[in-house]
Amino acid sequence: MTQPTTESAPVVRAPRGPHKTAKGWVQEAAKRMLMNNLDPDVAEHPDTLVVYGGRGKAARNWEAFHRIVETLDRLENDETLLIQSGKPVAVLKTHEWAPRVLLANSNLVPHWANWETFDKLDRAGLMMYGQMTAGSWIYIGTQGILQGTYETFAGAARKHFGGSLKGTITVTAGLGGMGGAQPLAVKLAGGVSITIEIDPTRIQKRLDTRYLDEVAPSLEDAIARAEGYKAGGVARSIGVQGNAADLVPQLVTMNWTPDLITDQTSAHDPMWGYLPILAPDEDADKLRTDHADEYRRRAYDAMAAHVRAILELQKRGAVAFDYGNNLRHRAQEAGVENAFDYPGFVPAFIRDSFCEGRGPFRWVALSGDPEDIRATDRALLDLFPNDERLQSWLRYAADQIAFQGLPARICWLGYKERDRAARLFNEMVADGRLKAPIVIGRDHLDAGSVASPYRETEAMLDGSDAVSDWPLLNFGLGIASGASWMSFHHGGGVGLGFSQHSGLVIVADGTEEAAQKLSRALTNDPGMGVIRHADAGYDHALDVARERGLDLPSLGI
Ligand code: NAD
Repeated sequence: MTQPTTESAPVVRAPRGPHKTAKGWVQEAAKRMLMNNLDPDVAEHPDTLVVYGGRGKAARNWEAFHRIVETLDRLENDETLLIQSGKPVAVLKTHEWAPRVLLANSNLVPHWANWETFDKLDRAGLMMYGQMTAGSWIYIGTQGILQGTYETFAGAARKHFGGSLKGTITVTAGLGGMGGAQPLAVKLAGGVSITIEIDPTRIQKRLDTRYLDEVAPSLEDAIARAEGYKAGGVARSIGVQGNAADLVPQLVTMNWTPDLITDQTSAHDPMWGYLPILAPDEDADKLRTDHADEYRRRAYDAMAAHVRAILELQKRGAVAFDYGNNLRHRAQEAGVENAFDYPGFVPAFIRDSFCEGRGPFRWVALSGDPEDIRATDRALLDLFPNDERLQSWLRYAADQIAFQGLPARICWLGYKERDRAARLFNEMVADGRLKAPIVIGRDHLDAGSVASPYRETEAMLDGSDAVSDWPLLNFGLGIASGASWMSFHHGGGVGLGFSQHSGLVIVADGTEEAAQKLSRALTNDPGMGVIRHADAGYDHALDVARERGLDLPSLGI
């Protein structure tokens, strides 16, 4: 599903190798990462600059894209490029330690922070939806969310199924950029999954990239296959084409209850994300264009039906959780008063990790050589020999994950871990063990850089869910600590009006200056996660703060 465009779309691939055309490796890295986000092997809909997450874009339009690339190539090492919702607006003299790029995407004054205002501005060519890593140029394909999705399902397994999903069936929906990680993550956690997806091209993409094992021709067939695998204790993933608002209620009617139920359609965006139920001869794009109000109403009705079915399956014994797409709120707006009777995935399974500043840390080899990522995998296995989750993840990923675009890796690391990993990568660039610099970044699905009351900050201990001073402090701190580019976004994950978040990216180019910046930025950034949760009163975060030496004046630490 993409917005129409009249501009001609080039096929974009990032340059590879140790030779740069920009005046510094940070500028070269920003350019390659922007281009990598739009690589057809990486982006969901590259022709319209849509990277993932509904209409999450990397640049406002193709003209803006070309201008950004040209500007990064001429940008000096003491200048900073400003990007306003995907458009390059100014180059200013700053200094060597300043970020080379500052990005602000989709931000609106709170009173106007809604899709209606955004859509008007978007149509007028004044804004772009940046999602999380699309507009901040650090998307690495579906792998980017795989370990996080695995952490979530493994958390569910620990909490509800004795540590493994073996012998369980998960039903979910959405095989898009992020949702496409679900089948493989459930499989990694030992379970069987059925994933409902409306768009056959998305099903094919997940089959091609080995995130999905097989497709069933109907829901009944998918259930029969899943039951067979469950009985045999086999971990396997099954896709089925259809609308979740249609098929999930059918599970209720059929009186069949899965062990786990969740969803990762793009419910955060009722106009461009979640598809209403359509008659066979109806075209979604035409309905949206010709009858926008009817489209929106039917999308909301569908989400309400979907959530009612999830609630009923929960009543019948399924473990239900929301997967960070704001489906519950949309259903509540459509009249499902008890939509929040099932929890979000962060309070249910992830918060302990956030208390340690632990979250998705990612890096990309600018050489384009997969061997560089293999070398970093081995280096991390040696650096963290006692982290069992990391050991098993990195071994699995090295063996099984197909790269998309520039070779990249993700793993979950926390406070006082990320800086060590980054300095090691920098040394490896300096001494030639790696063939070109490494770009290091993270998701905005993060411990200390997000305010998102229906996701990352849902049900905070002190009730501070909606306080968005924290992502602003994180944005400022990244700039003060030597980040290569920093971004501040609104509306990622859960949609406009519901979240504010900041992103950090930094380049390890093998220099001493980079080593100092990496040390500070990648200590302070995950540190914000510990600080945020210590301030909210979480014992685990308070312990981590004490043990790892944070200085928190209001807490006497
Ligand atoms: P995407 O837009 O790339 O994919 C969404 C998919 O859902 C598409 O393939 C679409 O065809 C399908 N779909 C839409 N309506 C449907 C329906 N009614 N029935 C069946 N399929 C339907 O988005 P994505 O990048 O996969 O992200 C999905 C959602 O998850 C977004 O709301 C995003 O904000 C959120 N998200 C969650 C996390 C997380 O970790 N939990 C992280 C990032 C994004």
